Amino acid sequence: MDVSVPSIPSTYDGYTQRLRDYIAAHKPDLRWKPRTGMRVPETAEDIAALRVWVGRLHEAGFRLARFTEEETDPFEQRILESELAATGVPYVLGNPLVAGALKAFGTPEQKRQYLASMSSGRHIWTQLFSEPNAGSDLTSLQTRGRLDGDAYVIDGQKVWSTWAQWSDFGYLLARTEPTTGAGGITALILDMHSPGVEVRPLREMTGTTDFNEVFFDSVRVPVANVIGQPGEGWKVAQASLITERSSVGGGGLASAVGGLLAVARQVDRNGQAAIRDQAVRQQIGHLAAKALVHRYLGYATATRALRGSSSPADAPMTKVWFSEVNLAAADYGLQIQGPISALAEGDPESLEDGRWQDMFLYARAWTIAGGSNEVMRNVIAERGLGLPREPRGTTSSKP
Ligand SMILES: Cc1cc2nc3c(=O)[nH]c(=O)nc-3n(C[C@H](O)[C@H](O)[C@H](O)COP(=O)(O)OP(=O)(O)OC[C@H]3O[C@@H](n4cnc5c(N)ncnc54)[C@H](O)[C@@H]3O)c2cc1C
Repeated sequence: MDVSVPSIPSTYDGYTQRLRDYIAAHKPDLRWKPRTGMRVPETAEDIAALRVWVGRLHEAGFRLARFTEEETDPFEQRILESELAATGVPYVLGNPLVAGALKAFGTPEQKRQYLASMSSGRHIWTQLFSEPNAGSDLTSLQTRGRLDGDAYVIDGQKVWSTWAQWSDFGYLLARTEPTTGAGGITALILDMHSPGVEVRPLREMTGTTDFNEVFFDSVRVPVANVIGQPGEGWKVAQASLITERSSVGGGGLASAVGGLLAVARQVDRNGQAAIRDQAVRQQIGHLAAKALVHRYLGYATATRALRGSSSPADAPMTKVWFSEVNLAAADYGLQIQGPISALAEGDPESLEDGRWQDMFLYARAWTIAGGSNEVMRNVIAERGLGLPREPRGTTSSKP
């Protein structure tokens, strides 16, 4: 495999230390319990503390490339992402995929108004794409935008809207022209505090509330809030959907494998620690090998991106691989535990306070988020390998 990802030079040790000191001094204490996945804090107090934390990082100059158009140092960015991820508290608030859309298609005024405020935690965003009858087949979306003077009047409903309960703005797709298919959809910036917007949080099988339904009843959105050109929202959405898949596929698997080793040391099998059982060792070894394949898949993808030779199959491939190995690891974490794996969070007899059960339930979500794995396999086959297209109906699938 042709891979070259340079290791971080020792001249960056000072930057790393400065960042670590800053994190140690400012990391917030939250009531919220960190869990695997893209999870959302549950109280207004935690959200307020997170806004302060993210704002301080921004002020201190620890800024993520995804929120700025300025040149950033790639080594500093790698250190920043990895050190902040290790804190276990959110350092990006909301669903920030609109940043990519704004950078590629936004007006200078939109970029000025929204990118820094997203980076500093002042504005939290949600992505308003999926609907009850439009997920994979996103171009069949039913939310409508009718032009009325200098505003679009929006009516319809979205679902799966992560972070919407705390969001200030929404990255909305609505049909603004009476056509079908990819044409006639417009991408809009929606002020979530506008009259006519109703957010209804959903309780999921994990017991947490990460998604919402969002309803629009004659909501007025200024024409100035269109991202890109009216009717060309599909083009805008494609840019950010690729980023979404890359970010799901970029998730790490090493900690899941490390966690399995820890579980196997703690639980008994046939009168000895499970880690001593050959079958357990083989299965963990098998998953460790797959985790390593995922890491190199990520390096290969990054190498191709640096050389400008990315393939449309890159992001879908890392996304499918990550989500399926992650699900297998979570499943095995429960299997090794045996009957105690049925004990949920809060039960004093549960292992690691039911963490594995939550991880198992949430792991399914990664096989769906950013485009389901079945649809990703279609993209790999058709756009990556050049195989014949599967028969389509009148609308086209999420790219
Ligand atoms: C964790 C998470 C976070 C999310 N956050 C957001 C968000 O913030 N904003 C947002 O707008 N959406 C969000 N989503 C929604 C996500 O984009 C959709 O769930 C996804 O696109 C699938 O759509 P659907 O749920 O409607 O399933 P459907 O499209 O109804 O699919 C149902 C089943 O049919 C299969 N299928 C569909 N079409 C094909 C085909 N052509 N070939 C083979 N199989 C097919 C699918 O793979 C799936 O198994 C999120 C989802 C998850 C899991």
